[in-house]
Amino acid sequence: MLGASVLALGLGGSASFDRPLSRPPLDPPITVTGGFGEYRIGHFHAGLDLGTGGRVGRPVYAPRSGWIERVRASGVGYGRSLYLRTDDGRLLQLGHLDAFVEPVASWVAAIQDSSGQYEQDLWPEAHRFAFRAGERIAWTGESGAGGPHLHFEIRRGDMAYHPLRAGLKVSDTRAPSLLSLTLEPLDDTSFVERGAAPYTIALGARPETVRVWGRVRAVVGARDGVWGGVDRMVPWSVAMEWAGERVECRFDSVSWATDMPEGDFVYDAGRVVGDKGLVLWAPAGFRPRVIRAAVPLAEEAGTIRVAAGDVPRTLRLVARDVAGNRSERRVTLRAPSEGAHGPDTTRALSLAHPRVADDRFEWASLPSGFLRVTYRGAGAGVRAVSIGFPERGIASAASPGRGGWTAILRVDQETSGRLAAWGRTAEGRIARDRGPEVLVTRGSSDRGSAAGPFTWEIPPSARFDSGSVVWRGAERGEKLEAPPAERELIHGRTLGYLGPESEPLRTAVKLSARVGGSPRAGIYRFGDGWEWVGSQRVGSRYQDESRRLGWFAEFEDTVAPRVEPAITRAGARTPYSRWALEAVVAERGSGLDARASYFTVDDHRVATEWDPDAGVLRWRPLRPPGRGTHRFEVVASDRAGNVGRRSGSFVLD
Ligand SMILES: [Zn+2]
Repeated sequence: MLGASVLALGLGGSASFDRPLSRPPLDPPITVTGGFGEYRIGHFHAGLDLGTGGRVGRPVYAPRSGWIERVRASGVGYGRSLYLRTDDGRLLQLGHLDAFVEPVASWVAAIQDSSGQYEQDLWPEAHRFAFRAGERIAWTGESGAGGPHLHFEIRRGDMAYHPLRAGLKVSDTRAPSLLSLTLEPLDDTSFVERGAAPYTIALGARPETVRVWGRVRAVVGARDGVWGGVDRMVPWSVAMEWAGERVECRFDSVSWATDMPEGDFVYDAGRVVGDKGLVLWAPAGFRPRVIRAAVPLAEEAGTIRVAAGDVPRTLRLVARDVAGNRSERRVTLRAPSEGAHGPDTTRALSLAHPRVADDRFEWASLPSGFLRVTYRGAGAGVRAVSIGFPERGIASAASPGRGGWTAILRVDQETSGRLAAWGRTAEGRIARDRGPEVLVTRGSSDRGSAAGPFTWEIPPSARFDSGSVVWRGAERGEKLEAPPAERELIHGRTLGYLGPESEPLRTAVKLSARVGGSPRAGIYRFGDGWEWVGSQRVGSRYQDESRRLGWFAEFEDTVAPRVEPAITRAGARTPYSRWALEAVVAERGSGLDARASYFTVDDHRVATEWDPDAGVLRWRPLRPPGRGTHRFEVVASDRAGNVGRRSGSFVLD
């Protein structure tokens, strides 16, 4: 059956992988508010989000006959979720539920009650909880998610399929839209509109012309037409055609076992211009599952080459949805005349001085050992700016642009030195600005010494391409002050910078640092504020891992989570109990440790959900406790080991 579908695909149709489901999981009309393949940090969105009108408690039906293979409960991720094994072998996953039907609900509650743990990942015996197509199996909620909706996945094995190609039917008459095209120079002799920086144009109905020289890659901003939801969905297929070559990003399926980290590589999550564009490019030897190209795997896919004397050529972009709606845009790429392709060094660029001195230089890793550096510190009227490592004989002319002066450096070998930018002032003097001392490496470790204050190791398999990473050690005596948002963090000590922050990683980077602080200290990474990494100690050193790069520091968190007085909530208008005991918990340091935070009620530890979006610890038993006065205590632990407590009582009559 699958073989036949693949044949149909080869003919260019959008045939489904699977027969239609007996019915959708919700009552129609079905509203899709999140698409298959959308960007999520560290993975692709592996299903569709179905709107529930902003409410919880809508019935969820078995879309086909089958049995419950797996039940999970968590304060994050899928929240409460069900996995229905259908009689034809598909696995349907339903997430962010508010409640399960009986007898599943009592079975889960009994396990939670006896263990005192809300977080569960349960695999009942095969066929124990069987349902016929159309039977109610759950109610929609917002558990583990921001806002009520139903998450719906269709899997076979470890593979999640585009639900609209695997049996779910939804009417769709709106074409996807192609919004922007970014062209990014890939080496130190390539330019777009005479600049080394990525260049973005908005795509309108009228064809645009862009001057390109050398080797560039395309990043395409595209969204799917939506059925009344938010406009963030990615089209099923976005393809680029150029000089007889074709590269397509097509979201048919993604493997939970192997493909999920590729989301950070396929999407421009900050390493080009951000904005979650699709990078229609793959390096030699690696092809993400969703990127299709005719060129062999051993060659780069999607590299656009324009050389002197080339006639202007058309780059064609086509976006399609599963229903067959499509849009198309064309951009003409033209080679500039010989001698007029490099940076325009006669232009001056005035820039306001950045707030933080350390922010003057910014870098991005390009494949094959090129490093793009942007300098933002030049004063008014400065021209002819170059950027490089002058002591190492590495320098490139920079081009002025919106973000500052940008140059691409060729760093073939591991290089350490002080980054610098220099140029000519309006008065004709040479001005020079010395930046930080950095190590640019494609290697996997700080060569200095494994016993240094902070060392790191990037396993070779952790990288998607052969780009450089930039390492900057802590300057002697550097003290850190956490921003006000994390004022529970004290005694900061910079460990160093390993970047670029936006570098996509397939697996974690190993970090090792000498322990400097108290038992309440740990390693933090600067992302959206200072975020907890870990505090695992081996002897006198931290041994931790991080899936993301950036600044790392050691902080101490000595402030316990603050627990507000708890309240009871009587849920109404649902066929199941929503009665709950809740306490708001404030924690702005290492973060709450969900497994070590809970209520005790009448001296028994109860299964307590930590809802990080609401900042609430919640006990929601299957049925409210009996009449009378009940004593409770809230125990809230953070990851550094500080414990906040508050006790009280409530009366039910
Ligand atoms: Zn979802």
